[in-house]
Amino acid sequence: MGVWPTNCPELVADLLTALNLSASTIVSVKELHDMPIEEALLNHYEIARITPDILDFINERSGDAVLADLLKPERAPDLKHWLWGRQLIDLLETFPVKVTAQEWINALRKIQPRLYSISSSPKVHINEVHLTFSNLRYSTNGKHRGGVCSTFLADRAEKGSVDFCPEIGALPPACWQGYAHDYGRTRHGGGPLPRFPARASCTG
Ligand SMILES: Cc1cc2nc3c(=O)[nH]c(=O)nc-3n(C[C@H](O)[C@H](O)[C@H](O)COP(=O)(O)OP(=O)(O)OC[C@H]3O[C@@H](n4cnc5c(N)ncnc54)[C@H](O)[C@@H]3O)c2cc1C
Repeated sequence: MGVWPTNCPELVADLLTALNLSASTIVSVKELHDMPIEEALLNHYEIARITPDILDFINERSGDAVLADLLKPERAPDLKHWLWGRQLIDLLETFPVKVTAQEWINALRKIQPRLYSISSSPKVHINEVHLTFSNLRYSTNGKHRGGVCSTFLADRAEKGSVDFCPEIGALPPACWQGYAHDYGRTRHGGGPLPRFPARASCTG
């Protein structure tokens, strides 16, 4: 089952500070409406993973010789070592860039759902779907970092609802019919997403 996470609000705030951008600046989000950049970063974009595209973008904008050198093909092992455990915020704090809010949004990838195996049986829990997940948290270079979706499920999902991928339709309707309602997002190309109230219970 695919879970659509939202991003950590503290990480969004740190990114905006690093970029010297105001949270209320309006940006245009592809396939959606215009909204404040804070909302766009919270709900619609990958803001943790460092992708090759974002590396190229920051290399181009920062003009930093150290990064340019690190991106040379012959230094691929060094780049891999440097990237391990680092997230986008670490890249930005090491190699600052000056961008507009819209340029930053255009450089990011849309957020993707994470897949989780269903760990419950509809024979036992007729109106529920249980997921069992490992909470990805680690420390590197003195900074505490976490996985986007696993920390979302552990820290924030309990307070609201969780959006699932339409693959949930493959489940017996009795599992979800009562909960699905028109949520109206189009992040996966149209149609309402099934939305479930979340009851997180974490064990360790
Ligand atoms: C078919 C399928 C079924 C799955 N089922 C389950 C399931 O039932 N339960 C479950 O828990 N997961 C499951 N997963 C994995 C799950 O989809 C996510 O990948 C996982 O929860 C991490 O997502 P995230 O958003 O928290 O992390 P992301 O934000 O996506 O970050 C992951 C990245 O963190 C970095 N990283 C990871 N560990 C460290 C570390 N120790 N130090 C430094 N960096 C690190 C790596 O770069 C990694 O790519 C499944 C995956 C698939 C494909």
